[in-house]
Amino acid sequence: MEDKNNIRRLLRDNIASLAPYSTARDDCRVQMDIYLDANENPYPNGVNRYPSPHQTRLKEMLSVLKKIPSENIFLGNGSDEAIDLVFRLFCPPGRSSMVQAVPTYGMYSVAAAINDVRVIDAPLRENFSLDADSLLSKVEHDTKVIFLCSPNNPSGNLLDRDGIIRILDNFDGITVVDEAYIDFTEEESMVSLIGRYPRLIVLQTLSKAWGMAGLRIGLAISDKFTVEVMSRVKYPYNISLLNQAKAEELMRDPLSAYEKAEEIKSERERLATGLAVIDSVVKVYPSDANFLLVQFKDKDMAFDRLMQAGIIVRDRSSAYMCAGCLRITVGTPEENDRVLAVLSDKCASSGCAGSDADSSDGKASDAAMAGRQAGAAERCASCFRRTGETAVSVRVNLDKFRKPRIATGLAFLNHMLEQIGWHGGITLDVICFGDLATDDHHSVEDVAIVLGDCLKEALGNKAGIGRYGFSLPMDEAEATVLLDLGGRIDFLWDVTLHEPKIGDVSAQMFRHFFKSLSEHLCCNLHIKAAGDNDHHIMEGVFKAFARALRMAVRQEHGASPVPSSKGAL
Ligand SMILES: *Cc1c(COP(=O)(O)O)cnc(C)c1O
Repeated sequence: MEDKNNIRRLLRDNIASLAPYSTARDDCRVQMDIYLDANENPYPNGVNRYPSPHQTRLKEMLSVLKKIPSENIFLGNGSDEAIDLVFRLFCPPGRSSMVQAVPTYGMYSVAAAINDVRVIDAPLRENFSLDADSLLSKVEHDTKVIFLCSPNNPSGNLLDRDGIIRILDNFDGITVVDEAYIDFTEEESMVSLIGRYPRLIVLQTLSKAWGMAGLRIGLAISDKFTVEVMSRVKYPYNISLLNQAKAEELMRDPLSAYEKAEEIKSERERLATGLAVIDSVVKVYPSDANFLLVQFKDKDMAFDRLMQAGIIVRDRSSAYMCAGCLRITVGTPEENDRVLAVLSDKCASSGCAGSDADSSDGKASDAAMAGRQAGAAERCASCFRRTGETAVSVRVNLDKFRKPRIATGLAFLNHMLEQIGWHGGITLDVICFGDLATDDHHSVEDVAIVLGDCLKEALGNKAGIGRYGFSLPMDEAEATVLLDLGGRIDFLWDVTLHEPKIGDVSAQMFRHFFKSLSEHLCCNLHIKAAGDNDHHIMEGVFKAFARALRMAVRQEHGASPVPSSKGAL
């Protein structure tokens, strides 16, 4: 029986037999002194050399963040390049079709038309949810690709994961899931399914949550065979030297991008609430993206009024099931206030627009204020540390829990740090770009150092905090962690591990991790654990540490005195 996951069989014949353009530098892995192979100008001006055709460094960083090997990542000149390549790889012009769930992003059908591929529209349901069976029924004998966009543009909603999986299970061609807006949701990316579904291509981009639309960098994440063929077909130097360098620079501090995405998410809710109470608004569709699809009684009037106030939004009223709808991107708080003020009833009657919008005191602007966060005194800190070996960013908030965001390039360390976030009941984000090609030493050590520093900074004067310990069974293993944030440093480690590695982390690095952490957090830390299974033992240690930390940092009553007879810790 033919293997339906054999992607080669899905390629156009001319692509399957294509010999790629190769450069002399592809074949040579070592650093050379003199480059006389590419007819470049030898005089340096910053851009006289061709850029990395494989964008190696950028892919290594993305590999850490996306938790997938570099070989599964293709980088294009925007997602648009990846969309075009999907047609060029898999769809013979003039005799193939694609199915897309509409309404959706316009580039799929434009790229299809350019490649002479027939477009078959499969309508989403009235609430824009995915009807997998109805979509599958639209597939024809020559359908090579299905395009899904989740969260969908322009409707803003996520598509049902089970429905997407149903399509992956029942369609033998290529399924593309465009996740341009995935960073604005709580939903897991489909990237983790690529191992199970080699015919899945997930598109992401640096244009939206990452704030790099001007750099034109999009990702296609897929089976390494597909990635390799896409790389063969693309222009050799498709991403410029300056764009690669700028993206690497901006990505070194991913937490500030995540922070802005959080801010945009909370503004999205505030804007939606504000719009919903405006008279001329019929409906604000729920959104998992950084925009809102809004249906107006008279969308032309709303559009014109915004236009007169110098605000441009997107008229999507001609899209399927989007009659009367404008798509409004979430802006800064000030920009969103302007939108609300311009559209609010008071402006409607007086025809006001522009500069005096702030004086509007209608219900819309009440709503605008309601969602604003008060600057409560939460104990937060962010730390960034960069050495020749690692770049580590850590952010903590001891007074608010949010799902941890951990990416260190080490799967087991990620798993353990997530335990500190979940079981510590704190916000914990840790990103580490390290020299993992050497080994895991610097990454593990530097994460501990920055985590310790960051927790210490967040604790501030330690008002109201306690000294605690926790003992925890983990299947057959048992772990006890005693923690005193009193400022003295003492470290005790009584943990016997059986194997040289746990997952992808060297077993000996865990003692080192907690020792560095205790030195930088300035705490007494006594850890004792035993059991049969190393994974259970270490998971027990991290959870018990998280529990002890949770109790130790809890402020029992506001600014109660420091729990020490000395009055200071
Ligand atoms: C914005 C957007 C993209 C991103 O395109 P780039 O070319 O990477 O800027 C991709 N897909 C959808 C659905 C979008 O809305």
